[in-house]
Amino acid sequence: MTRPVVTRFAPSPTGFLHIGGGRTALFNWLYARKHGGTMLLRIEDTDRQRSTQEAIDAILDGLKWLGIDWDGDTVYQFARAARHREVAEQLLAAGKAYRCYATAEELTAMRDKARAEGRAKLYDGTWRDRDPVEAPEGVKPTIRLKAPLTGETVIEDQVQGRVAWQNENLDDLVLLRGDGTPTYMLAVVVDDHDMGVTHVIRGDDHLINAARQKQIYDAMEWELPVMAHIPLIHGPDGSKLSKRHGALGVDAYRAMGYLPAALRNYLVRLGWSHGDQEIFTTQEMIDAFDLPAIGRSAARFDFAKLESLNGHYIRQSEDHCLVTQLEDLLKYIPQGPALAAKFDDSIRAKLTQAMPGLKERAKTLLELLDNAGFIFADRPLALDPKAQAVLTPETRQLIGRLRAALEDVSPWTAATTEAAMRAFAEQAGLKLGAVAQPLRVALTGRTTSPGIFDVLAVLGRDECLSRLADQAG
Ligand code: GLU
Repeated sequence: MTRPVVTRFAPSPTGFLHIGGGRTALFNWLYARKHGGTMLLRIEDTDRQRSTQEAIDAILDGLKWLGIDWDGDTVYQFARAARHREVAEQLLAAGKAYRCYATAEELTAMRDKARAEGRAKLYDGTWRDRDPVEAPEGVKPTIRLKAPLTGETVIEDQVQGRVAWQNENLDDLVLLRGDGTPTYMLAVVVDDHDMGVTHVIRGDDHLINAARQKQIYDAMEWELPVMAHIPLIHGPDGSKLSKRHGALGVDAYRAMGYLPAALRNYLVRLGWSHGDQEIFTTQEMIDAFDLPAIGRSAARFDFAKLESLNGHYIRQSEDHCLVTQLEDLLKYIPQGPALAAKFDDSIRAKLTQAMPGLKERAKTLLELLDNAGFIFADRPLALDPKAQAVLTPETRQLIGRLRAALEDVSPWTAATTEAAMRAFAEQAGLKLGAVAQPLRVALTGRTTSPGIFDVLAVLGRDECLSRLADQAG
């Protein structure tokens, strides 16, 4: 009988939720959801020096923001150290592990010698079959796995295919350190086993660990989970992903104004494909996702593609949802608090009204917020340099005349203001653009904006007339 699928995401809380970690979590989540299984979360906090509560919070927060949920309680690896020790003792009792009394100096000498002789195996097996009565005084032993000396250790990986290691090249790995703390290798195996994990989906930087871990599974006669090691994300030029090229925390993407749905969609396509489909709803991702369809070569991070996907998701979003997302974004950006103080129902209504025009031209929420700046702006408006250049004595005078022409418009809508402006331009013998540009500058402080009649309607009569008066000559 096949067991129900159990996947896990097992981040080390030594930093934020990295974009690569976000993708690993997503793949685990999709696989579990597709098979009606569960995804567990395990915080691998055994490195006490480098693990922080702040990082744990950032990881949990990042996952929630991405829309990735997990089943059951979060498991903390450090809290399970006694159980890890128990398994090491069990292996020791079964003769499948042994105490190694080699000192740090001896180990260094062994390593140097092995390297000089070009051997992959660094530990010479000194204590493997030696009688513990020969143990030196005062050395706290480590516990090492009595790994097979011949043959090979094989992983049938869902992504990498069959990968084999010659056992003669693999060291007897340390399970428990001299101070009694379990090693990472032991902890992962014991936890995955105890948590009932059936599928391990993680970065291919862990592939070599899979071989070491398999040796522990074999020694315990535990069933090895299905393994899927996914290629890491590289920069656009194929080199290691740098900060500039996207090696950032998920929180940075939030602060740059990416929508979680867009980032999910982008991440799922990083290394996985389904025909030539680019856009996936969450349900479509769940239905289509599969491990063998993950490519073996490194995925390349492409900001332009992420932006364009984000633009797509922004255009597809409901106007009022975007307003909520904008308000949420304010918590994560430097200019946020000042704008948040202005957020009231009137601003929300104006943003919603302007949204059809705003969302057409923004690739990120940050850009959208910037383009919506005219809604928040305080009078008299600060003009950007290009806008400043539009204002000459002539255009200022034009603004004054236009203001007078608009004064009597009632009701004040995009259509009525447009009609009044057209009539004004015609009377003045000017092209509409020659009137619209100074108007835009006076109302928004910029030379680009959403459609000028929408701007007029959104700002309302009083605000428009006041802004025009501010710039009129
Ligand atoms: N804690 C490891 C990491 O953050 C992952 C371990 C695993 O997935 O087995 O890279």
